[in-house]
Amino acid sequence: MSEPFNHCDPSNAGLLGQKPATPGRASPTTGVGWFAVAQTVKFPVPQRRQTAAVQTITLPASPAAFADAGWSDIAPYYEDLATASLTRDNVEAWLKSWSQLEELIDEAGTMAMIAYTGDTADAEKEKAHLRFSTEIFPQAHEQGVRLSKRLLDLDYTRPGLETTVQRFRTDAEIFREENVALFAELEELSAQYQKIVGGLTAQWEGETKTIPQLQPYLKERDRQIRERAWRLGNEAYLVHRDELAALFDKMFIARTKVAGNAGFPNYQEYAFKSKHRFDYTPADCDRFHEAVERTVVPAVARQLEYRRERLGLDRVRPWDLGVELERVESLKPFDDAGVFVDRAKAIFRRVDPTLGNEFALMAADGLLDLESRKGKAPGGYCTKLSFRGKPFIFMNAVGVADDVNTLVHEAGHSFHDFAAHKQALIWQRSPGHEAAELASMSMELLASPYLQKPDGYYTADEARSAQIEHLEDILFSLPHIASVDAFQSWIYTSGEGHDAAARDRAWLEIRSRFEHGIDWSGLEQERVARWYRQLHIFEYPFYYIEYGIAQMGALQVWRHSLADQATAVKHYREALALGGTVGLPEIYQAAGARLVFDAETMGELVELVEKRLTQLRAA
Ligand SMILES: [Zn+2]
Repeated sequence: MSEPFNHCDPSNAGLLGQKPATPGRASPTTGVGWFAVAQTVKFPVPQRRQTAAVQTITLPASPAAFADAGWSDIAPYYEDLATASLTRDNVEAWLKSWSQLEELIDEAGTMAMIAYTGDTADAEKEKAHLRFSTEIFPQAHEQGVRLSKRLLDLDYTRPGLETTVQRFRTDAEIFREENVALFAELEELSAQYQKIVGGLTAQWEGETKTIPQLQPYLKERDRQIRERAWRLGNEAYLVHRDELAALFDKMFIARTKVAGNAGFPNYQEYAFKSKHRFDYTPADCDRFHEAVERTVVPAVARQLEYRRERLGLDRVRPWDLGVELERVESLKPFDDAGVFVDRAKAIFRRVDPTLGNEFALMAADGLLDLESRKGKAPGGYCTKLSFRGKPFIFMNAVGVADDVNTLVHEAGHSFHDFAAHKQALIWQRSPGHEAAELASMSMELLASPYLQKPDGYYTADEARSAQIEHLEDILFSLPHIASVDAFQSWIYTSGEGHDAAARDRAWLEIRSRFEHGIDWSGLEQERVARWYRQLHIFEYPFYYIEYGIAQMGALQVWRHSLADQATAVKHYREALALGGTVGLPEIYQAAGARLVFDAETMGELVELVEKRLTQLRAA
């Protein structure tokens, strides 16, 4: 069981998610250089694409043309699209041209990011990455808004384009010129948060360690070591509590202004719009919290009671959560990157031959940069190369069980990219995080039966313990997700969110609602520290409930697979292929699932997880 603290996935360590805004952070990578072959991704051989809608503009043949581009090289293409005559007769060709332009820029910028995160010491690569992230992408985005207005003015739509138009319309509706400066200010404040948090250290046996470097000690069997590491980690934050609270005050003020400028009564309502949450409301999220409280919280308390007994404790303290119950030795799934990739191929082939082939194709094309080596950015991500229609996975594998979890998760995102690329236009391929994480979290569960040798990495017994840990993680992550979401809702709607002391009190109250079975007596300040550690609350407000929604969807896909694996995977792939062309309920429905906010369905799924845990422990 790992404390959820990462950017991408609250239940797995080391994930940054799809295309991070800024590379870095997160993964507590230990051990370096167990294997080091730098793979380089090259631009594909330029080929003129027949589909290019040259009737509006002529585009370069490949993203390589933009590799060294500055904004002035790219701006004329947008200008052409902005001034070309646009009618209902040529709108499809115009959209195709615009989409291809976005693909070219996106892939060129992604290549620059991949190159940089793979070799952060190279000043040229850093410069190229920054040229895209700070110069080209923001201006391209602005031009994109300009072009989307042309489409909206035309009042044009058709089947498959409705969700794109809906997103364009929403963005246009909430856009305010006066908010641009506020967003820049929020970026700056986020950078300050990163700087404070990234610089936190603790003294450990005469050595200076970062907070992620303390993480492995939380798994120690010696309880005193765990407690010491846990306390040190929290203390590092508590020392900066006032500074972080003052920083959040500024964020709160800026966000409240953003919402007010756009005509919303509070930032929560603005956030739901800007995140394109068309299919669920704050009230649904409240129901989700209640459902977690009724169904998951008691289940986690039962798991904690089991933990208490197994560890022979009189009470479970917060530093007792990380220690593994099923085995003393850590899993060592592989010691060579070749084995890491080959076993993954075999696992995905067992899930589905097409998915196995897609993964093999990524390996063959140098689209997997998995091994940790000096100079690489920390963490992991999956991103897509929009022009060639293939994904890329980056991580820092050192041969531990989390590496397997990370790869399987990110591979789920990559299968999504492969499937969605069949949609013609770039905007039709991207659903929101709720669907993206459905793809990755479902894959974690769909792949779990095949982690065993000869296909997978583990002996039967090791595979069993990996599954147990995964299911425990799922249960334990849900109350945390509910806490973070309920807390943010409170911050922006209670009228007291501006008050630092009130925030801390509210967090404690919310935390005691969702966290039963852990003895926090005498640790109130440490308990408060937890929210300051949750970077989403600072940097990505309201981005968290998606994980809960997706986990509920993934559990439904899994439930289906236990009865009929082939059909469950077939539906999974069909859902992925929809990209972002339909609403969230339709995507979930195609996967054989639905959006779950109610206690009844959540209760069924929780019961299934608990039952499976009991079976696995008895095996
Ligand atoms: Zn993810």
